[in-house]
Amino acid sequence: MVKTDGRIVAELILHLGHIASREALVEGLTPAQWAVVRYFARANRFSRTPSAFAAFHGTTRGTASQTIKSLETQGYLTRMRSEADGRSARLDLTDKARAILAHDPLEVLVRAADALAPGARGHFVNGLHRMLGQVARDRGKPPFGTCESCEHLEGDGCSREDQAPYACRFVSEPLLLKELDDLCINFVLGKSMTATGSVTGVVPR
Ligand code: SF4
Repeated sequence: MVKTDGRIVAELILHLGHIASREALVEGLTPAQWAVVRYFARANRFSRTPSAFAAFHGTTRGTASQTIKSLETQGYLTRMRSEADGRSARLDLTDKARAILAHDPLEVLVRAADALAPGARGHFVNGLHRMLGQVARDRGKPPFGTCESCEHLEGDGCSREDQAPYACRFVSEPLLLKELDDLCINFVLGKSMTATGSVTGVVPR
């Protein structure tokens, strides 16, 4: 019988992470730089900041800023001043960064996950999200998540003349359908969505 106690699960997750991470440079980037590229490829426009990356990655702002600066210098990230206050900055991946994403060293894990049956992947994702949420709560960090199950999501996906199909109540901004899958630092677990995109009940905490 397969052992499923918490320690076995935790050790397997750690082991997968270790064997998939390569110390050598891939496409000229260190593992720390790859973590930044990966984050900025997934994060939404409200979360593409050095401090949000530091919170997501569990690192200090100083360390995050240094790695981000090195990627800006190499042309993988570009910085835009916020139109709202002119002080905060948002960082976006450049085309050069998007071009190397297919060579992400994490692809070995992606292929292994793709080899699982869809049902097994679904259970796995749900379980890992719950674990991530608990670890973030224990450490006093934001849990991160996507709009589809966020308490702040408004809308039913229907386009009306004077209203966007989706909006974020937290930042009071309309959301595009393609943005609903992006990672967000302001996420609060609350709702779940059906496959057709309509918001359903509350996910148990
Ligand atoms: S709905 Fe939630 S996850 Fe989406 S942008 Fe707003 S706070 Fe972030």
